[in-house]
Amino acid sequence: MQQADKPKDACGVIAMYGEKDVSSYIYYGLRALQHRGQEASGIATFKNELNIKKGTGLVADVFCPEDMETLSGNVGIGHVYYSIKVSKPENAQPQVLKTSVGDIAIAHNGILVNSKQLVEKLKKAGMHFVHESEEEAVIMMLADEIRSTDSIPKAIKNVSKELIGSYAFVLMINDRVFALRDPYGLRPLCLGKFNDGSGYIAASESVALDVIDAEFFRDVMPGEAVEITKDGFKSYNIGPAMNRAHCFFEWVYFARADSIIDKVSVYEARKRIGWRLAKESPVVADVVMPIPDSGRGHAYGFSLGSGIKMNEGLMKNRYVHRTFIMPNQDARDISIREKINPVRAVVEGKRVIIVDDSIVRGTTMRRIVKLLRNGGATEVHVRIGSPPLIAPCYLGIDMTARNQFIATDGRGVDDICKEINADSLAYISIDGLVEALNMEKEDLCLGCVSSEYPVNIPGEKRRFQKTLEGFV
Ligand code: SF4
Repeated sequence: MQQADKPKDACGVIAMYGEKDVSSYIYYGLRALQHRGQEASGIATFKNELNIKKGTGLVADVFCPEDMETLSGNVGIGHVYYSIKVSKPENAQPQVLKTSVGDIAIAHNGILVNSKQLVEKLKKAGMHFVHESEEEAVIMMLADEIRSTDSIPKAIKNVSKELIGSYAFVLMINDRVFALRDPYGLRPLCLGKFNDGSGYIAASESVALDVIDAEFFRDVMPGEAVEITKDGFKSYNIGPAMNRAHCFFEWVYFARADSIIDKVSVYEARKRIGWRLAKESPVVADVVMPIPDSGRGHAYGFSLGSGIKMNEGLMKNRYVHRTFIMPNQDARDISIREKINPVRAVVEGKRVIIVDDSIVRGTTMRRIVKLLRNGGATEVHVRIGSPPLIAPCYLGIDMTARNQFIATDGRGVDDICKEINADSLAYISIDGLVEALNMEKEDLCLGCVSSEYPVNIPGEKRRFQKTLEGFV
């Protein structure tokens, strides 16, 4: 499969408690979160026993109307999956296990940095794994803690203390459902209630609530576990960190523009980023154009900040998703033209500014610049709504190798500009980004643009840490 020239997120989750069967609501909620993962989808519900269906593919491909009948029960969880490790059908979630304390189902957005150690520890203690996944490890640890504490909230708190990394988990333990968020709030998770009072929901993004006519209630706090019950939400403190570390990429690229995450509208944040970019790196040109779809908010903001009119000069073929890598350059060029094509009437004879959220490898951007020149653009200026990506993400985003970035290996902005053959290139500054997000710098994860991470990662610098010396 072709490797995308964009970072990829690792999943979306939903948990629900309703008066009626919840599977169809979870289905529609998952469809609204489809942008967070397209490799696999799954729903688990509980009615006297656990019901589950999951499989590879989009939500609409995995489920049929009859499934909504068999997935009966007024509690349930759901998941859309993107693998940042090896993509295998058995990795589809929710993952479920029958334990001595009952049926436990789990769905996860994020990644545990210490998953290997957790699995090893459990194996040494005599536990038998089917998939050796971190989700399976968490279920086993939970079952063990529930047995010894006789309290699910206490068990969740004790298990959370062992987990290092990013997680927005939804859990179904027999007929009880929980949603919990790591102490830094790395991945988003919010709560909502149905407008007719018939149920309560937790979801990765508020857009999932909008679609099923649920009202946004609040975000799950970093370091909080919430039980979703027939009467609403019960909150348990599982240990927030001193500072938050929300992944800035959620606003820049991952989340849907119509979502609101940690009180910040994704669309408005993108608009402010574009505005700030226009102030930081102005350029004389005739037209501002977004790279559809994620660059649209940034481009609109750039247009407002620069006073240069925005126009849609690139059209995207919405029906082309993944493809394989073509063996020769000509075929590869066709594959990018198949996905995106310039509108000659907008581009011809114009000095154009294209605005996008990020550059990973730079291959797609180089091809887009070429397309625009072939389409008659006299100048092509590129503006990017994130600072240069220079370091891997260990916290759940598919950017795991340092050498995959065009901005590493000592390449400066001028070198990258030459490589993509643009007339000028500018990225937003880290300070500009932070200001545009309207958040404190200390409350953001900026690991991939600063090489400083919110959690201990062997060999990497932890933020607020002065040197790497003595780091274990
Ligand atoms: S390293 Fe980058 S992509 Fe990963 S969580 Fe932090 S900000 Fe997000």
